Amino acid sequence: MTPDAGPPAQPRPSGIRLGRVLGVPVYLRWSWLLLAAVVVVLYAGVLDAMLPQLTLAGRYAFAVGFVLCLLLSVLLHEVGHAVVARHYGIRVRTIMLEVLGGYTEMEADSPHPRADLAVSAVGPIVSSVLGLVALGGYLSLPRDTVVSQLLFQLARANLVVAVFNALPGLPLDGGRAVRAVVWGLTGNRHTATTVAGWLGRILAAALAVTAVTLLVSRDVSVLIPLLLVLLASTIWQGATIAIIQGRLLARLPRVNLRQLARPIVTVPTGTPLAEVIRRVVESGLAAPAVAVADGAGRIVALVHEESAAAVPPERRPWIPIDSVARTLEPGRTLTAEMSGEDVINAVRAHPAREYLVVSGADVVGVLRLVDLDKVLRT
Ligand SMILES: [Zn+2]
Repeated sequence: MTPDAGPPAQPRPSGIRLGRVLGVPVYLRWSWLLLAAVVVVLYAGVLDAMLPQLTLAGRYAFAVGFVLCLLLSVLLHEVGHAVVARHYGIRVRTIMLEVLGGYTEMEADSPHPRADLAVSAVGPIVSSVLGLVALGGYLSLPRDTVVSQLLFQLARANLVVAVFNALPGLPLDGGRAVRAVVWGLTGNRHTATTVAGWLGRILAAALAVTAVTLLVSRDVSVLIPLLLVLLASTIWQGATIAIIQGRLLARLPRVNLRQLARPIVTVPTGTPLAEVIRRVVESGLAAPAVAVADGAGRIVALVHEESAAAVPPERRPWIPIDSVARTLEPGRTLTAEMSGEDVINAVRAHPAREYLVVSGADVVGVLRLVDLDKVLRT
């Protein structure tokens, strides 16, 4: 019986798989194609004023080229996160490119605040460098050429991305940097996550107010307030998830399997349910769990309490305990020494209602999922 505390199995990301960069699979969300099409059509429409020398086909080709360069910029920003994460030994699972930027999914949290700060800061730094390089190219080339126009647009887009991502609220890079600093100062990552999450909510509210102000003033195209509202709602959602995570993670140290595990009454396989109930009462234990042992005395199954209770009393002498028990697969054994985070990962990887808790060769007891849930909720 080996405990399985490996990372939970992840569903395959939904999107178009573009390939691998430095061994990391890169995906593109389907929704990106829709936004790209809208940007191409809108942008090609306004291009004749800026580049009158282009034909209609030329304008569309230019707009498509611009959108692809933007996608490449976002990819480089995310690759920056991935490279620095790896440098600190954090495995990177995927890079997802989305409508409003990208997302680099990592397999673990940063080991220390300095790593967290470096991983988060590198994204806006990459975008700033891309923006400044494009700006330098634009300034050194003659104006009103196709290339200089493209460089100008890329400079503007990358600098906006850099500044926007540096705003201090989760889920933005700036928010992650704030979390790293608060974590470094307080020594508590979960408190830091909660603080940076609340800053994210304040940021989202400020963006929404800005959007309404711009809409009322009618100084700008209606697209900008619309985009701001979309960003505000995305940030609000990300910030809310961060706040909930911070709250849940702060409770993880309370997950102590030795305290949570219920005592066990072990019965041989084939024992009638009525006899099991008699032995449970006789044991005098408070709310014990029932385990089923084979001929060699090894625990092979755990009884599901609700199923056992649902059997009508008159049938209990005829029902073997095995019919209300679930076979113990390897993933359903936890060790008493596991940390709260490891327990959550193990439970996510092997969902069940009861787990056997062991310490070396000794059986400690049974963890019931409802007991774990109670600790995390209260
Ligand atoms: Zn970033």
